[in-house]
Amino acid sequence: HRSPVVVIGAGPAGLTIGNILRAASLDCVVLEIETREFIERRPRAGVLEEWAVRGLEERGLAVSLLERAQRHAECEFRFGGERYRFEYAELTGHHHWIYPQQLLVTDLVREYADVRGGDIRFGVRDVELHDLDTDRPAVSYTDPESGERVLIRCDFVAGCDGARGATRAVLTPERAHVSRFDYGIGWLALLAEAPPSNDCVVFGMHPNGFAGHMARSPEVTRYYLECPPGDDPENWSHDRVWSELRERLGAAGAPPLTEGRLIEKRVLDMHSYVVEPMVFGRLFLAGDAAHLTAPIAAKGMNLALHDAFVLGDALVAQLGKGDGTGLSGYSAACLGRVWDYQEFSQWLSDIYHGTSSGDPYRAGTTLARLRRLFGSPSAASAFAEQYLGKGSGY
Ligand code: FAD
Repeated sequence: HRSPVVVIGAGPAGLTIGNILRAASLDCVVLEIETREFIERRPRAGVLEEWAVRGLEERGLAVSLLERAQRHAECEFRFGGERYRFEYAELTGHHHWIYPQQLLVTDLVREYADVRGGDIRFGVRDVELHDLDTDRPAVSYTDPESGERVLIRCDFVAGCDGARGATRAVLTPERAHVSRFDYGIGWLALLAEAPPSNDCVVFGMHPNGFAGHMARSPEVTRYYLECPPGDDPENWSHDRVWSELRERLGAAGAPPLTEGRLIEKRVLDMHSYVVEPMVFGRLFLAGDAAHLTAPIAAKGMNLALHDAFVLGDALVAQLGKGDGTGLSGYSAACLGRVWDYQEFSQWLSDIYHGTSSGDPYRAGTTLARLRRLFGSPSAASAFAEQYLGKGSGY
């Protein structure tokens, strides 16, 4: 078996790269451990930045998204029992798109496999990478039906298999440097079968802990509750979740929360890492495989798409025209944005978690930051710029 590119992982990063290659009539094989049904239903992110949607649109990958995604123009902070609207679209002329990740994945799989005729193999087992530091690397896996090992020789491997994939495992300390940051905080990530309870995203800063409200669709809403890291989701009964959400998101004049069945309840330990460089030999990492940003600032899916645009275009230039400049500059072209978003997430984490830190000094500086956001036009525009993401009109 031979293919110019093997892409490991059919998330937003891997599928976007596959689509870019197919648009240039280049072959690749995408390997995915889960089934198609599973990845088309897995709910995760939902916030897309304007430049990312533009990038998808330019590559013919945003037709359904532009028909169905909602535009978001404001967010709301709640603290001290009051509501504070932050109207970033009015301030900047730019907005966010809300489109559940599983819908984007569904669109990208359909386009890649059914429209552009791409090769994708679901349910593969025990993916292994070989000869990465030679010019003939290979990837092997166990075929789910025959149980046989299959080896695909290729020119390049795109490691897009997320935070727990096979490609991260080959990056031993001698091969790549990994910087890590642990926030020491947990978030209970919830999906409620309930319509949104507010017309925009809400961030609640409360002495009991942070709480977040993010629309996903007219029927489903994502909520977050700060909790101790490693907490057991079973400690959070339906009643406890809703009473804590009401308490932490409560503010004068706020619409009441619409309760619904909790269809997802997971504890996320807030941590981040960055792999540098994002390349080892013929292996190019993209998305969460290369860097994790705790979902504090909703940046992960956007970074995955940015990597995919840069890597997809660079592979096309190399394989189509023998131009290797994109590939040699790939890691540096991505890491600037990665670190920018890491820094913003850390800054935002201080705002979210300062009032509940139990430290009155941190609580005081957090409230000062929040007041500055609503009192100083330059602080507001600096926040809007980073919240919207680099390239969304700036
Ligand atoms: P993934 O989406 O993780 O895709 C990797 C794929 O590889 C998966 O399909 C996986 O099944 C497959 N795979 C894994 N191991 C192997 C293997 N060994 N072999 C083959 N295939 C393998 N980001 C945002 O931008 N905005 C948000 O609002 C947001 N909210 C989030 C909420 C939650 C609860 C979580 C968990 C994440 C959130 N994120 C958010 C982050 C976002 O979901 C990720 O950053 C994004 O999925 C990264 O895309 P990816 O393609 O790099 O990896």
